[in-house]
Amino acid sequence: MSSYKFHILGYIALATLLLAVFSYYKIGLEEDMVILGNLIGILYSILPDVDTPSSKIRMLVNRISLALIFFSLVAYIVINSPIFIYISIIFTVLILSLCFVRHRGIFHTMGAGFILSIPLYIINPYLVIFAILGFLSHIAVDSIL
Ligand SMILES: [Zn+2]
Repeated sequence: MSSYKFHILGYIALATLLLAVFSYYKIGLEEDMVILGNLIGILYSILPDVDTPSSKIRMLVNRISLALIFFSLVAYIVINSPIFIYISIIFTVLILSLCFVRHRGIFHTMGAGFILSIPLYIINPYLVIFAILGFLSHIAVDSIL
């Protein structure tokens, strides 16, 4: 079984416990929030391996970044707004900087998990819990494997 599948299984195990705790304390989450939270949790459970060039999440990040760079450059040519140049520069720097991070380095720390989870607070504070749980499950599974 591929590594990312173990991480997703580890997340599902922890998420089941989390939802049981929510149920025990009668913390009611809407069904949509549970679905969105678990999708984000699954994404964050494989996110730390973005430091591995052959990982699924790295390939996904590279493809999305390249698409954003392409469409930003096209938008800059059509609309001529400098924001699109900035977007393309940011994602170019992201792709290039990922080439220099080492495996199980900064992206495999809970500090990175907290920093990468904070933006979700704007959408809904519960999403931060799912994201941190995903990150935590990744680190736990890595320590076992
Ligand atoms: Zn890992």
